[in-house]
Amino acid sequence: MADASYPSVAIIGGGYAGMAAAVELAARDIPVTVFEAAPMLGGRARHVTVNDTALDNGLHILIGAYSETLRLIDKVAPKRDSFLRLPLMLNIHKRFSLRAPKLPAPLHVAWALLTAQGLTGADKRAAGHFMQAMKKRSYRIDRDCTVAALLDEYSQTIDLIEYLWAPLCIAALNTPMQRASAQVFLNVLRDSLGAGRAASDLLLARMDLTALFPKPAADYVRARSGVVEASAAVERVTQDGDGFSVQVHGQSRQFDQVICAVAPHRAENLLADIPALANARRQIETLQYEPIHSIWLQFKSPVRLPAPMTGISDSPAQWLFDREIICGQRGLIGAVISASEEQVGETQDALAQRVVADIAKNFGPLPPLQWHRVIAEKRATFSCMPDLVRPAIVTGCKYFFLAGDYTAGDYPATIEAAVRSGIAAAHHIQ
Ligand SMILES: Cc1cc2nc3c(=O)[nH]c(=O)nc-3n(C[C@H](O)[C@H](O)[C@H](O)COP(=O)(O)OP(=O)(O)OC[C@H]3O[C@@H](n4cnc5c(N)ncnc54)[C@H](O)[C@@H]3O)c2cc1C
Repeated sequence: MADASYPSVAIIGGGYAGMAAAVELAARDIPVTVFEAAPMLGGRARHVTVNDTALDNGLHILIGAYSETLRLIDKVAPKRDSFLRLPLMLNIHKRFSLRAPKLPAPLHVAWALLTAQGLTGADKRAAGHFMQAMKKRSYRIDRDCTVAALLDEYSQTIDLIEYLWAPLCIAALNTPMQRASAQVFLNVLRDSLGAGRAASDLLLARMDLTALFPKPAADYVRARSGVVEASAAVERVTQDGDGFSVQVHGQSRQFDQVICAVAPHRAENLLADIPALANARRQIETLQYEPIHSIWLQFKSPVRLPAPMTGISDSPAQWLFDREIICGQRGLIGAVISASEEQVGETQDALAQRVVADIAKNFGPLPPLQWHRVIAEKRATFSCMPDLVRPAIVTGCKYFFLAGDYTAGDYPATIEAAVRSGIAAAHHIQ
C-alpha cells in the first residue's frame, strides 16, 4: 500500500524510459503519476494501426544484452513468450552471411567469423585481430574518434566494413560510421559480441511494441495504486515551494518530485521555467538528430523471405523483416532505412515503390501490393557523435530528474538506454 510519507512523483512521458521509472517506483510503493501526451503509450517504440493491421511506428531489434529491458518485461508480463530469439545472424542477400553457432563465448564469435560467407581469409583475419585488440584494451579507447577512423587504424578491409562493421554501426547507433562515436560503438560490441553467447542473440518482438512493455507496465503500475494518464500533455512545469507544479489540461497539479522522460527536443520547453535547469537545456540544444524510415508493405498473398530478418544491398532499405515468420502476419513485409537523411522529402509512394522493386530484384516476382505505409521519424535518435556531452539524470534542480535514451550513459539511443535511464532516475527518488 502507498504510504503518505513517500514523495509523490510525476513522470512526464510514457515511453520506455518513463514506464521503466514508473514500474521501479510502483514496485517500491511510491505514488506515481505518469502523464503521456499521446493516446498510446510507447513513444518512439509504439503500436500503430493501419488498415486494421497492428504495426509499430518503426521496426525494432532488441538484443540479448538488453538485460534491464528483459528483466522489466519479465516483471510486468511474466512467463510470456515475448520474442522470436535468434542466435546472432547477419545475412545480406547473396553478398554476406554470418551465423553464430551454439558454442560458449568467445568461440561463437570466432566460429561465426571463420565460417562467414562473402569474406576472404584476409578479411576474417583482420576482423579477428580487431576483436582481439579491442578485448585486450577492455573496449576502451584513450580518445574518442569516429568509427570510420578506428576501423581505419585497425586496417579493416573494404568488404569487412561494408558487410559487417558499417551495418552494425548503423543498426546500433543510427549514425553513419563517418560521424559515429567509436567509444559508444565499442560499448555495444563489448556487451554483445564481446560478452556471453546469449548477449548477441537477436530478439524480434512477437507483438507490437506497446504490448511488449508499456501497456503491461501501466497495468502493473495501476495495480499498485499508481496513475497512468494518456492524452495528457504536460504544458508547463514550475517550482512551487519545495515541490513542483505540473500543468496538464490547463490545471496545475502538485508533486514532490519530477522525472522528465520525454524525447530531448520535447524537453526543451518543459525545462524552460526552472532556472536551475538551464545547463541541461543548453546540453539538449546541442544535440543533433538522425531520421529512420519504416516502410510497411502488405501484399495480397504471402511473401516469404529467406529469414525473419534479411539485409539487401543496392537499396535504400537495409533490412527486411518477414512478419509472417516473426508474428504470423501473412504477406506483411517491413523494411527499415536507418540514418535515412537522403529519404527525407521523398514521397511515400515513390519510396514504397522503390523498395518493392528492390525486393523483387533480389527475390523474384511479388504478388500485388494491397497497401503500403511509410512512417518517417525525423528525430528517431540523437546523432551519436564522438565526445558527445549528454545531459545527466541528476540535474541542477533538486528533485527534478531527466530520463530518456539521450541522457548520459554507455549506450546509444536504444530501448535499453531508455529503460536504464528510467531505472536510474527512479533510484534517485528518496
Ligand atoms: C523508427 C525507429 C526505429 C528504432 N529502432 C530501434 C531498434 O531497433 N532498437 C532499439 O533498441 N531502439 C530503436 N529505436 C530507438 C528507441 O525507440 C528509443 O531509443 C526509445 O524508444 C526512446 O524511449 P524514451 O522513453 O527515451 O523516449 P520516447 O519514446 O520518445 O518517449 C517519450 C514520451 O514522452 C511523451 N511526451 C512528449 N512530450 C510530452 C509532454 N509534454 N507531456 C507528456 N508526455 C510527453 C511522448 O509522447 C513519448 O511517448 C528506434 C527508434 C525509432 C524511431
